[in-house]
Amino acid sequence: MPKNAANDETGYHAPRFFKDTHMQAEKDKVVSFHYRLSDDADAEVENSRARAPLEILFGHGNIIPGLEQAIAGHDAGDRFDVVVPPEQGYGQRREDFVQRVPKKYFRDPEHLQPGMPTVLSTRDGQRSVIVLKIGSSVVDVDLNHPMAGKTLHFAIEITDVREATPEEIAHRHVHGAGGHDH
Ligand SMILES: [Zn+2]
Repeated sequence: MPKNAANDETGYHAPRFFKDTHMQAEKDKVVSFHYRLSDDADAEVENSRARAPLEILFGHGNIIPGLEQAIAGHDAGDRFDVVVPPEQGYGQRREDFVQRVPKKYFRDPEHLQPGMPTVLSTRDGQRSVIVLKIGSSVVDVDLNHPMAGKTLHFAIEITDVREATPEEIAHRHVHGAGGHDH
């Protein structure tokens, strides 16, 4: 073997011209990928391996900006790690994102405990919140996204990149298995 031959873990290295025939993640492609999300302490927060890969219409802000930037240009089979700072992820925590809400807006107000995540029904739909304090008729909740202010560690594997249909581009989301069905 020539001294400078590149080798990956499999011992096989695809010539560059093969790779260039693959479809790369870019705007208006449908990209499927597995991800493991963990925090600074390497505690796992989410893992797509328990279900199907996430499938998104690329370039339309359907995932956090830091992850979309990192995936751009990759093709099926690529595996890589991405570190996303809060400003490219779920934003910084806001201390004024605390609200006092009447108990009637909760699904199951009698079982709430401080620190517990729960779902609040709002005019704009369901919203995930963390319970801070429970009074006799009101509950203080934290409206920050649970991952706000956190650095996100992703391990990514791209499983597929395909052309989006004109209909998917018009709707700005994926159709079919793993997407909208209408
Ligand atoms: Zn649609």
